[in-house]
Amino acid sequence: MTAGESDGLRAIQRSRRWVWIWILSYVPVMWVVKRTTHSDLAAAPFVLIWTVAIVRCIARVMFVRCPRCNGLFHSTHSSPAIWNLLTRKCLQCGLPLHLEKVIYPSLE
Ligand SMILES: [Zn+2]
Repeated sequence: MTAGESDGLRAIQRSRRWVWIWILSYVPVMWVVKRTTHSDLAAAPFVLIWTVAIVRCIARVMFVRCPRCNGLFHSTHSSPAIWNLLTRKCLQCGLPLHLEKVIYPSLE
């Protein structure tokens, strides 16, 4: 494992974390906006911002490259896929996302 690979894996973890942050933040933010403004129209800009942000984050995760093989990390082929965003390893070379969970790193 090189320093570039571990930095790349941390970047993948960070981009995946942002997807979860946006997903989990929707309900509390909308609750606060609706509670303070009592208007659906006032919530529209927040819904628009949230939608753009979640699409951008998911697209970023879909197009992320593996630091080892430079293939798409979440895709089994050369085109990006949205179906494997929860995978724990590169679907092209098998590089695990969380190296601390690998029992025998020399066998990787
Ligand atoms: Zn790979």
